[in-house]
Amino acid sequence: MSTELQELLDSNRQWAAETETREPGFFSRLLKQQTPQYLWIGCADSRVPANELVNLLPGELFVHRNVANVVVHSDLNCLSVMQFAVDQLKVRHIIVVGHSNCGGVKAALMDSRVGLVDNWLRHVQDVRHLHQDWLDGLPAEQRVNALCELNVLEQARNACHTTVVRDAWVRGQEVVVHGWVYGLHNGLLEDLQITADRAESVDPAYRRALARVKQRYAH
Ligand SMILES: [Zn+2]
Repeated sequence: MSTELQELLDSNRQWAAETETREPGFFSRLLKQQTPQYLWIGCADSRVPANELVNLLPGELFVHRNVANVVVHSDLNCLSVMQFAVDQLKVRHIIVVGHSNCGGVKAALMDSRVGLVDNWLRHVQDVRHLHQDWLDGLPAEQRVNALCELNVLEQARNACHTTVVRDAWVRGQEVVVHGWVYGLHNGLLEDLQITADRAESVDPAYRRALARVKQRYAH
């Protein structure tokens, strides 16, 4: 085996030993159940590791990641994760998390040809087209991060419109959808405040959050 991979396995053994020393019985407790309160839907980018950013342990965060944190109504992978998280694990919060300088968002903005992922990024281009006039009015250097934030709002809204979330709200289950953005430059998460806890609050929350993003980039 290559030295690099052996290092990973060695690190894993050290981490498992340290964790068990710090919290005896940690793994045997996790074996019995997981009770995460949160579902994180984030970008696959290696610089945005979900658990580390919010300092949560194994068992505390249910995670789905894809390129550019997209929530599409026909993506059975994402929908299956959401359904299991909401219906079985009863997570209380679904957080769609984008990040600044996202390569997927940048490719969608620039119309770059990368490969198969271009087809996936059409969903982000849909977001771009929705806000094209406003984006065109921004200084070029701000457009990527502005589209990263708009993409979070659209994907969070998509999450609200899935049958999984709508059905949960209809039966009175408490699930709140959020949209956050992570700054690669400073390591900080920011709440874009598209916070919806029932069907009627989705559109007003979207409009307020959108106005807030536009206001911030107006300066
Ligand atoms: Zn990304």
